[in-house]
Amino acid sequence: MKRSFIDSLMNESLADLQSISKSDLHNHAGRGGTLQYIGSWAKVNIEPPTAVFKSLSEMQSWYVDHVKSHCPGIQGYLKRIEASFAQAAEDHIDVLALSFGIDEIHSLGTMESFSRTIDELHRRFAPEARFLPELAFDRACNVDEAYERIEEILSYNWFRSVDICCDEFAQPIQRFKKLYQRANDAGLILKAHVGEFGSADDVMEAVEELELQEVHHGIAATKSPQIMRWLADHRIQLNVCPTSNIMLGVAESYSSHPIRALYDFGIPVTINTDDLLIFNQSVSHEYMNLHKSGLMTADELNVIRETGLSLESYLFIKPS
Ligand SMILES: [Zn+2]
Repeated sequence: MKRSFIDSLMNESLADLQSISKSDLHNHAGRGGTLQYIGSWAKVNIEPPTAVFKSLSEMQSWYVDHVKSHCPGIQGYLKRIEASFAQAAEDHIDVLALSFGIDEIHSLGTMESFSRTIDELHRRFAPEARFLPELAFDRACNVDEAYERIEEILSYNWFRSVDICCDEFAQPIQRFKKLYQRANDAGLILKAHVGEFGSADDVMEAVEELELQEVHHGIAATKSPQIMRWLADHRIQLNVCPTSNIMLGVAESYSSHPIRALYDFGIPVTINTDDLLIFNQSVSHEYMNLHKSGLMTADELNVIRETGLSLESYLFIKPS
């Protein structure tokens, strides 16, 4: 597998790359499909964005206008989740973490109907993928309300990890401590979006305060060699999304992407899609882009691929 992965990068064969086992560990479920899949279902042609977004809210407006408007309501939502699984199967994503918000659960009535519906889509569209559902809290959420709702959700032992997403500056990360202690007690892997727009100190603070095992993005850590060393020493995994970073203006290009420095400091990193329905690049594309730019060698990218498939931390999930 290692040899064929390296060969497919050297030969610039996207089709070969797509046939090789990979992971996607940072993927917002409702936005993980392809524009072609949704476009052909809705019978419209959706062109990907052409310019860098100035902010998350500008990105959100683009998404609502160009994608969500073509697949509204519950039916459209389920079609987008289906698209995420179908895309994962097409790109040979063998380890797939998809994140879902609390509101998504409630849009399908109960946790029971939600998990049953999503499991069914998993079975139908990506049966080979090891599926790791992730529960995502909006950084701006009312933490006390989320805490009230989490007991019932956790009682299903369905989610495998937790995340905090969206606006990094909405409220101090410490407010999520109680919620994360509860998630830790339930054996979930602790992750959060941090260091995408924030600072290196924000990354370290979030990891320390919430005892995170993984960070989504975390690229701001490259501003501090001390913090990068600390992340490497503590084996904190960073789930990096290169195209997302470029399209949101926090990285200039593939050839100068911070993943190079993170890797060189020995931090475990993975390569992921974030919001494929917006950024329009699969995991295979992401590997190809980094290799073509000259930033990483095929051997190094294979180390990253293997990191994503190792599932080391998930083996420690406490049995229910
Ligand atoms: Zn994200």
